[in-house]
Amino acid sequence: MIEEVTIPQSESPCAQPGGGGPLTYAFDRSEFWRTIPTWRDVDTETFGDFRWQQRNSVTSIQGIQEALGELARPALIADIEAGLLKTPMNVRLTPYIFSRIHWGNVEADPVRRQFLPLGSQFVPDHPHVMDDSLAEDSNKATPHLTHRYPDKALFLPITLCPVYCSFCTRSRVVGGSTAVKSKSTYGAKSNEWDATFEYIRSRPELEDIVISGGDALLLRPSQIRQIGTTLLEIPTVRRIRFATKGLAIMPMKFTSDIEWVEALGEVCQLGRERMKEVALHTHFNTDREITAWTSSAMKALSETGVRVRNQSVLISGVNDGFDCLHYTSKKLSSLLVQPYYVYLHDMVPGCEHLRTTVDRAEYLSRRLQGSIAGFNTPRVVCDAPGGGGKREISSYTLYDREIGVSAWTSPTAKPGEIFYYYDPIHRLPEDGQALWANEAEIKRRLAKFKAEAMAKAEATRH
Ligand SMILES: *Cc1c(COP(=O)(O)O)cnc(C)c1O
Ligand code: SF4
Repeated sequence: MIEEVTIPQSESPCAQPGGGGPLTYAFDRSEFWRTIPTWRDVDTETFGDFRWQQRNSVTSIQGIQEALGELARPALIADIEAGLLKTPMNVRLTPYIFSRIHWGNVEADPVRRQFLPLGSQFVPDHPHVMDDSLAEDSNKATPHLTHRYPDKALFLPITLCPVYCSFCTRSRVVGGSTAVKSKSTYGAKSNEWDATFEYIRSRPELEDIVISGGDALLLRPSQIRQIGTTLLEIPTVRRIRFATKGLAIMPMKFTSDIEWVEALGEVCQLGRERMKEVALHTHFNTDREITAWTSSAMKALSETGVRVRNQSVLISGVNDGFDCLHYTSKKLSSLLVQPYYVYLHDMVPGCEHLRTTVDRAEYLSRRLQGSIAGFNTPRVVCDAPGGGGKREISSYTLYDREIGVSAWTSPTAKPGEIFYYYDPIHRLPEDGQALWANEAEIKRRLAKFKAEAMAKAEATRH
């Protein structure tokens, strides 16, 4: 297949203008939350308290209206209301992230786009979306553990988060039910984790345990200690990571919840004694989420010795421009947050407007390589739908850019199987969109593609 030259889409609105000169890292030190009418009189000390952030989180349309006061245009509120009828995710924004939104230009705002869906921006789901795109449920070893790769596993002790993201890959379980999706969510119940610890103990090949959710930020200090200590004491577990969006949406947790940070510090100390790695994996998508609060949080965290890495999701209209990804990666690196992954958006329902193509992701991956220190260059990956696991973006077996379908193999996680990722139809070339509009045509074309992909995978045995 001939490589096409990709013409970059317009760069994302989030980035600082590059211009070729040295980048400067500006960390917003202003009292930016005071631009939101309801928090006009909130002082820095109050704003910097995680309990206040939790108590004042915005969780409903009424909450949004109250917070915005005179800024709540009726057309905007109606558009958000329409969005909430279509999304599988609850609304929850901390005051911190709510006030990082530029409400004057809210339709195009890259922070708003991540947390508050607008009805007018929805695009119908792709016919091949999957509720559980990563097949996490079918790879369950215990009710709380997904074991897909030989030496690493994913522990989900909680399904609640301090914010809810429109693009959540676990929208089937995370947060509460919505108009279009009912869920049975669970809080953290330590007495239910023994089977998981027992399983990890019984599988000595498991060296890496990811503790995710939901969000580890909502685990109590005693639970951080319990999970951390229990796992580090298993001789064959070498590394653990707590996954939390906290740094990006409630950085004051790390400066004001002393007990939580102390618990993490104790786990890190145990890790050092055992020569094991304790890491925190966080989730920034744009540089707008990084402020002076973030840098204070990173100072507090660096004292615990925890290693911090970032995993982003590539989101259309949010961070799908090179300048944005590049600047965000550099700015994070300046705070000792190591960019790790940029995920191609998973094929989950209710967020088609946020997805982009493999072609776009490959373009960004090519641009990023060489633009930052190698160890701070995020790897752009596709988590192959159906349980293939994370694959380097250019490692597909075959890619048809016209109909937007790519074929992936996964020799380690699922030898012999082929997985397919489908680009969002509205981002395909016109001929490709026309093919999807014709059921017989697209069936024929997909069958041909799959046959070629299978032959190629067979021939190259990879
Ligand atoms: C992402 C993931 C891991 C960890 O993979 P890394 O590439 O080491 O970050 C482990 N298990 C599952 C099921 C995962 O999805
Ligand atoms: S913080 Fe993570 S798990 Fe929670 S809603 Fe956002 S993407 Fe989903």
